[in-house]
Amino acid sequence: MLVFTHPDCLRHDPGRGHPESPERLRVLLTRLDTDGRFPVRAADPAPREALLAVHPASYLDSLERMARVGGGALDPDTIMNALSWAAAVGGAGASLAALASALEGVPAFAAPRPPGHHALRDRAMGFCLLANAVIVARAAQRAGRQQVLIVDWDVHHGNGTQALVETDPAIRYVSLHQWPAYPGTGRADETGVGNVFNVPMGPAQPPGRYVEALWNAVVRATDGWTPDLLVVSAGFDAMAGDPLGGFTLEPTHYADLTRRLRDRLPSAGFVSLLEGGYAPSRVADGVLAHLAAV
Ligand SMILES: [Zn+2]
Repeated sequence: MLVFTHPDCLRHDPGRGHPESPERLRVLLTRLDTDGRFPVRAADPAPREALLAVHPASYLDSLERMARVGGGALDPDTIMNALSWAAAVGGAGASLAALASALEGVPAFAAPRPPGHHALRDRAMGFCLLANAVIVARAAQRAGRQQVLIVDWDVHHGNGTQALVETDPAIRYVSLHQWPAYPGTGRADETGVGNVFNVPMGPAQPPGRYVEALWNAVVRATDGWTPDLLVVSAGFDAMAGDPLGGFTLEPTHYADLTRRLRDRLPSAGFVSLLEGGYAPSRVADGVLAHLAAV
């Protein structure tokens, strides 16, 4: 199990008091270093072709321009500073490095900031600039891994991921998320071309219910359909105590889900990407439990 990040991911800063703070990644990297089981490598920035497979040039250029003038607000929650473009491209690069590792048979986790699953084709939202999970899925398809399963256990619905894959039957998207909540998408009847499996649930339920509901959706998505690659959109804001979520998961539940995914899909390459999670030490607890179970 390898871990990839990019140094610029620590330099994206949406401002004082914003929950998507550099501290999230700083605490995680310190914990990984202290723990010592999972080597952390710095990746190269993503090549532009990989980004263009998902986002139009005009959108990429607009983000780069905004960073060049020192940053600004893309929406009330999604704020760039001068380093945010470099961070986004570095984070996408870390995600692609994790894919490269998985294609060589070594499962890998990437820790990008900003996160990705709310980013639309040509619009940033929900702290997200580039759709890392879809960038990885498209690159995997170009590398001959046609069928990709994306499992998103962030407490929020990955509206960007869904919008970018919902017409491609070769990609299946499973999402467990709080409902109703930001961003307002993710109803169970949003099924794409039969490739989207949404599991909206209310807050404050016993953690086992969330685990079983997500697992049932994974089983439905993979019944008679075997992915070549698994991409986990690994948000850790579904943990008890997260300031932005109302779910109740503990590290042991991420370990359980990870083991189940590995057991059910033994031949699929394994890539996991950090999404949300806003209590930094809890995020580190969750990631460590997740990685140890791969
Ligand atoms: Zn989230």
